[in-house]
Amino acid sequence: MGNELSAPYDGPPEVLEARDLPSIAKYMKSPECRRVFVMLGAGVSTAAGIPDFRSPGTGLYSNLQRLNLPYPEAVFEINYFRENPVPFYTLARELYPGQFRPTLTHTFVKLLADHTLLDTCFTQNIDTLERQAGVPGDKIVEAHGSFASQHCIECHASVDGAKMRRAVETGDIIRCADCGGLVKPDIVFFGESVSMP
Ligand SMILES: [Zn+2]
Repeated sequence: MGNELSAPYDGPPEVLEARDLPSIAKYMKSPECRRVFVMLGAGVSTAAGIPDFRSPGTGLYSNLQRLNLPYPEAVFEINYFRENPVPFYTLARELYPGQFRPTLTHTFVKLLADHTLLDTCFTQNIDTLERQAGVPGDKIVEAHGSFASQHCIECHASVDGAKMRRAVETGDIIRCADCGGLVKPDIVFFGESVSMP
């Protein structure tokens, strides 16, 4: 994703008066605009204090050395998690919802929903700040999953949220009551498929 070359289009805009924020705002307030789709990436959550994953120096990957991973991405690899879930649980404690507050951008998406303009909010973030801002769950597609639910990675049995939260807080790895498999929040790991509506 994002690796293909793209060429700038320099013709006139087809819907907006110009390619700037005032033109977008004007169009959104007009009767012609009835359905707004929003696509959110890491940038909307960095202002909430959540580190993004790839920025050199400040990104999550460059701060993972202390977890003794063979390479940073291993923390989100399903096969590595099976062998050693400790680094992910350690990281999850830092990222767990409840420690961060939605930003103005998240609140703006809620405002769109309040005005019945929001069709769908696609997000690749796993922090659930869209939900915390009050965006209705049925309007959100969390393409990389989220901390909002959790399952056994083997038999997919659902696990109670309070139990998951306690496990992340204490660092006690939980195992499935049915099959003994490891349990993790429904964040999409490398080696798993992304969520589609
Ligand atoms: Zn299980």
